[in-house]
Amino acid sequence: MRYLTELSLEAFVTAAENVPYQQINSDLFPNVDLWVRRDDLLDPIISGNKAYKLIYNLLEARKQGKNTIVTCGGAWSNHIHATAAAGQRFGFKTIGIIRGEKPPVFSAMLQDAERFGMELRFVSRQKYRQRGGQDFIDVVGAPSSCHFIPEGGANYLGAQGILLLADAIQKTKPVDFEEYWVACGTGLTVGGLCAKLGKKSTVVGVPVLRAEEQVEVNTQKWAARFANGSCDLTIVRDAHMGGYAKQPAPLLEFMEVYEKYTAVPLEGVYTGKTLKAITLNREPKPTAKHCRKSVLMIHTGGLQGRRGVLFK
Ligand SMILES: *Cc1c(COP(=O)(O)O)cnc(C)c1O
Repeated sequence: MRYLTELSLEAFVTAAENVPYQQINSDLFPNVDLWVRRDDLLDPIISGNKAYKLIYNLLEARKQGKNTIVTCGGAWSNHIHATAAAGQRFGFKTIGIIRGEKPPVFSAMLQDAERFGMELRFVSRQKYRQRGGQDFIDVVGAPSSCHFIPEGGANYLGAQGILLLADAIQKTKPVDFEEYWVACGTGLTVGGLCAKLGKKSTVVGVPVLRAEEQVEVNTQKWAARFANGSCDLTIVRDAHMGGYAKQPAPLLEFMEVYEKYTAVPLEGVYTGKTLKAITLNREPKPTAKHCRKSVLMIHTGGLQGRRGVLFK
């Protein structure tokens, strides 16, 4: 694995085009020709879909001469983690607005963010609810000259990075996939991917939280914004296993077995639930003749979050 050493579009595209695809030859998936695109390996720290959502945000901030990046998230946010690391790597000051009171003991994520040089500001949940508003920067007292990135990196520039990911997939995919599976939080990633990949294939989003209808609306909004016509999008229901970040024992057991047999590291908030959804939705149907679809799961990273549950 190589580090992203410079902030340039060329270097980022090269890294994206070098992300490996891993074919999973396992009896655990008898009905699919399953592959995983390992975007968790894009960079050792600035990885997964959060890196793609950051790239154009960082380039834009630099272009505008803004050297402070402000963003927000929870105590285990992959987006906060990636932003703090990118700020340190590429020379931006970063401010993280963290939801909730300052905890007496920092999560491993918060410890990392601080170590990467991010200034952490804790705001009440009530204040945090205003994060979508125009004046959130003022509400939290951040400098108005900063570049603000919304929660999860979900803005127009973030979507541009996901389109870049779709281009990289189209250019480097080892086979013609019939389906692409992706975990959804805000739904931006799956929406952006569908805009490009959903023309010839089905793009399947797996919401990892209960608000599936809202996710579906967001996803369709992002897809429609960039699709130039229709695209084939499916949203899987009931894959959240109890709600956002809920990691019941059956999920953890599933992940342990699958990691052992496939050597793909997973975390329980996004990628574990997505892989589980693939197994559940690709069970042999009694009437179906032998049919092995080629399926690509996009590994959206987030492995830093394993420390929250798996290694407690
Ligand atoms: C944030 C995140 C997602 C969800 O991405 P959205 O664009 O918000 O839908 C999926 N997987 C991982 C590992 C993430 O960190």
